[in-house]
Amino acid sequence: MEKKNVPELFGSMVFDDRVMRARLSEDVYKSLRKTIDENAKLEVAVADAVAAQMRDWAVEKGATHFTHWFQPLTGVTAEKHDSFISPSPDGGVIMEFSGKELIKGEPDASSFPSGGLRATFEARGYTAWDPTSYAFIKDHTLCIPTAFCSYSGEALDKKTPLLRSMQALDKQARRILKLFGKDVKYVRTSVGPEQEYFLIDKEMFEKRPDLVYTGRTLFGAMPPKGQELDDHYFGVIKPRVSDFMEDLNNELWKLGILAKTEHNEVAPAQHELAPIFSTTNVATDNNQLTMEIMQKVARRHGMVCLLHEKPFAGVNGSGKHNNWSMATNDGTNLLSPGSTPYENAQFLLFLSAVIQAVDDYQDLLRLSVATAGNDHRLGANEAPPAIISVFLGDELTGILDAIKNDTPYAGKEKEIMKLGVHTLPGFSKDTTDRNRTSPFAFTGNKFEFRSLGSSNSIACCNIMLNSAVAESLKQYADILEGAKDFEGALHELIKETIKKHERILFNGNGYTDEWVKEATEVRGLSNLRTTADAMPHLLDKKNKDMLISHKVFTEPELYSRCEIMLENYCKTVNIEGLTMVDMVRKSYLPAIEGYLGRLAKSVSLMRSVSDKVKCNYEISTMEQLSGLTDKISEHVSSLEDALEGLKSCKTITDTSASIRDEVLPKMESLRKYVDEAEMLTGEDCWPVPSYGKLLFSVY
Ligand code: ADP
Ligand code: MG
Repeated sequence: MEKKNVPELFGSMVFDDRVMRARLSEDVYKSLRKTIDENAKLEVAVADAVAAQMRDWAVEKGATHFTHWFQPLTGVTAEKHDSFISPSPDGGVIMEFSGKELIKGEPDASSFPSGGLRATFEARGYTAWDPTSYAFIKDHTLCIPTAFCSYSGEALDKKTPLLRSMQALDKQARRILKLFGKDVKYVRTSVGPEQEYFLIDKEMFEKRPDLVYTGRTLFGAMPPKGQELDDHYFGVIKPRVSDFMEDLNNELWKLGILAKTEHNEVAPAQHELAPIFSTTNVATDNNQLTMEIMQKVARRHGMVCLLHEKPFAGVNGSGKHNNWSMATNDGTNLLSPGSTPYENAQFLLFLSAVIQAVDDYQDLLRLSVATAGNDHRLGANEAPPAIISVFLGDELTGILDAIKNDTPYAGKEKEIMKLGVHTLPGFSKDTTDRNRTSPFAFTGNKFEFRSLGSSNSIACCNIMLNSAVAESLKQYADILEGAKDFEGALHELIKETIKKHERILFNGNGYTDEWVKEATEVRGLSNLRTTADAMPHLLDKKNKDMLISHKVFTEPELYSRCEIMLENYCKTVNIEGLTMVDMVRKSYLPAIEGYLGRLAKSVSLMRSVSDKVKCNYEISTMEQLSGLTDKISEHVSSLEDALEGLKSCKTITDTSASIRDEVLPKMESLRKYVDEAEMLTGEDCWPVPSYGKLLFSVY
């Protein structure tokens, strides 16, 4: 690959601040910045001027089309391309792009899920420019990040509520900062999402209908080697993968995505990419793009990038870590403890707000990462359990205990810690980042939410996190704004919050059965194991009230989202079930049958040569395999019945319960028998590549 000048390459396909400053007139630049930074309304004249410059810039870079780029509830991004061309009187064309086209689009959107929000006769959804995320060029197309709404204004996407949740948090956080004497322009949440993925050979992939249709293997006997040697984790990156990563980095850098860290992960063929964090909205757009480009670049290298949460049984699945913090416009991180007493008090208040938010809205955080794919990971001893808890580390826990009990903090002078008076001892990142089993861990100056699945849009969990923290901050501001003795009230508030919410704090091993027992039976934390269990809680009164009061969702939006997410769960598993039936009936049973025939033939052939041959091996294999084909046939019919039974379910909640209780267990037992048969059948007769080939064939 040719050598690249990275600083020159970086952001070369983005209409970023550098381009805006260079190309826009000073007035236009200033009003656009005001819109970006302070949500000021955008004038039509400004939009026209920006559009003209965007078009010239894009055309110079080889673009012929533009699109409003949006994130419907399917979880992937959507685009509909229009060319810039417009006929000119002389029979030729000119390249046109108006402010109106920049600001608003009307895709015919009748086929996107809306959960009943938009009747099909009113198919017109519209897209609206989000100037806080830069436009970029991809595949000769100028992509304009947009929000997607129904004609009557209901959000049909993930970006709109995300932006609303950021506004909610901004509003409440500024109220709090005012009490500490700080008048900031804005508070934004920042996110750095670490992304895991698998790379497998494209030829192998294409031979597996389960991977092609569902993104995960539905069958497959365990290979002799898995991840037990830990030799892949942080291991030397294989040349083909390393070429892929280089190519990927270049593509991401061109789009201004801060791809930073890459390494091999625990499972064979598993890798991770982490960017440098950015504003949540931008991080979300960038993560969607990263997932898309990973898949595209992998194909160029003869590989397929699997983003499914559990592509292979028996080895780790893939997740995503959502590193989250809050910062002011001058870059001050509100989750950074700081070095003076007053900063510490402010830090402890924001910390309390997060702790309270996670406790009060455990269910919302859990359901924000719930998908059929992620259900395979959570609680499966490779990812955090479905129980949400917060890890703070021993030092911070010690400090909170001291505050709660009015006792001297062991690490400090023998004085009772008084907020706003005493400084906290410094605690290093190392002492806060040891626990990898916690779903929600404090890591020095940010929280890391680790329950996300690799294919999740990070928008969902950040909507919930931002809104829940906004709610804690609102409650605090309501109390503190009226307080006569601010410091006293602050101390009391933090103390009471710790007392009330300490059940959510847990520094131990989240993978153990004892924790599940303690969390659910002693502490009363919720353990929502599957999507079918979790999703309906979106409509619990406390959750609806909170999300509606902060104007993040309207009631109809919540109902529609719950329905869409459950529908997605049901459809996903239904496709998996049908794929299993298809593979068993069309490939596995005929293949085993063929192998049985081969064994039978060789027995009769051998016997025709000598009547002394016992053929013990052939006969016992035949007996076992024939027993297995009976079992397989019985179980595939029973799976078919369960899938058929879904059709008679009256509501989506019933269907999802039936998926959880009937379909998934049947899929599991069918798989068991097929995998057993795979171990007894000659590899040349097996119709699909084995786990060993899938996991170990990329060099
Ligand atoms: P690790 O989790 O492997 O120890 P790091 O702590 O270096 O890695 O960072 C993990 C991710 O957290 C990176 O994407 C990084 O940019 C992001 N991150 C660091 N600081 C913040 C912050 N203040 N807000 C949000 N994300 C952050
Ligand atoms: Mg991490």
